[in-house]
Amino acid sequence: MQTKIPAGKLASEAGKEADRILRSCVHCGFCTATCPTYQLLGDELDGPRGRIYLIKEMLESGSASEKTREHLDRCLTCRSCESTCPSGVEYAHLLDIGRELCEAGTERPMVERIQRKAMTAILPNRTRFSLLLKGAGLFRPLLPQGLKALLPAVSRTKLDWPPRRHKRTVLMIEGCVQPVLDAGIDRAAAIVLDQAGISLQRTGIAQCCGALEHHLNASEAALERMRSNIDHWWADIEAGVEGIVSTASACALQLKEYGYLLRNDPAYAEKAKQISALAADISELVAGQDLPAANGGGEKIAFHASCTLQHGQKLSGVVETILEKSGFELVPVKGGHLCCGAAGTYTLLQPEIGEALRANKIESLEAGRPTRIATANIGCMKHIESASEIPVVHWIELLAELYEKPQTDRG
Ligand code: SF4
Ligand code: SF4
Repeated sequence: MQTKIPAGKLASEAGKEADRILRSCVHCGFCTATCPTYQLLGDELDGPRGRIYLIKEMLESGSASEKTREHLDRCLTCRSCESTCPSGVEYAHLLDIGRELCEAGTERPMVERIQRKAMTAILPNRTRFSLLLKGAGLFRPLLPQGLKALLPAVSRTKLDWPPRRHKRTVLMIEGCVQPVLDAGIDRAAAIVLDQAGISLQRTGIAQCCGALEHHLNASEAALERMRSNIDHWWADIEAGVEGIVSTASACALQLKEYGYLLRNDPAYAEKAKQISALAADISELVAGQDLPAANGGGEKIAFHASCTLQHGQKLSGVVETILEKSGFELVPVKGGHLCCGAAGTYTLLQPEIGEALRANKIESLEAGRPTRIATANIGCMKHIESASEIPVVHWIELLAELYEKPQTDRG
């Protein structure tokens, strides 16, 4: 694609990067066919190719419009388009630049500004999020529908992890909302990895990996959060942890993006690169281990591959193989490449699209009559759970259950 970005804009890092990405797009439109918002809304401007054009236009004209902002807001950042694109267009990185320009060049209505500020202040901080949920009775009438749906599912149990007894140690990023909503997921990972001779070490800080602020276009806050995390984790990294793992695929993807996002920060670029090189999704870590045999007894599971797992981290099929090897039967799921509508804070900001996508996803997941639905990310889990009759779990919990059974029960 040819571009005519003015020289002044091209001199900036963002301008150069946008130009590089735009020029890699050949305008073929293959991506449009696999875009969930295009499928739902049928408007070219609500598909990747249309959004790419809007960003190009904005860069060339130097002015942002509310219309462009709306179309970019409706993008789930699911990266399904990146999986389809034959030219390797880095759509998500271009979208970040486009969103930042829109944020700077337009003014959102007051309600949206307050909503986004409140989310940025509360969600990335585990203590504040936990307090919010505890005060849910008072706040409930004021909350958006999507957040209300999350409230009943607060995790109240304090769970013991296996003792740290192995030489091999991996740093576990617990993040912000997941331990509040479901403390059992990271514990399940600790149980499974203990079987593989790996101990998990917690970071000791209760904050976001930066993904939530990133999703809310608060890019400076996201970068600050990432720098603060690096400072907190650095002693453990220097002490020689063999990796950094997350059970939330969205957080694992964000860790893998640290190197890219902080590449222009002289003080943090090298460290961020190292974080990204050490980062792993729990599925990658488990897949590479020699685990004792486990037998899921042929239980029928519908697996929902989160977008950050399959499109962001390109880990399609990894969890499915682990589950099948562990004796679970996976039922077919139509449209497995499509987003469930959770997409970080998307479901709170675009509830109608989020709910429509969820309805389609649940229909596909339930079609094979599974006993349980499994996924790889807390956001998808809570979003699907809030409208499904079938129990929803994180896939690592299925595995941990097998290892928690008495030895004689195992296959
Ligand atoms: S990221 Fe997802 S919603 Fe956004 S344009 Fe790409 S496929 Fe469509
Ligand atoms: S598939 Fe790739 S190259 Fe084709 S229009 Fe979409 S982003 Fe551009």
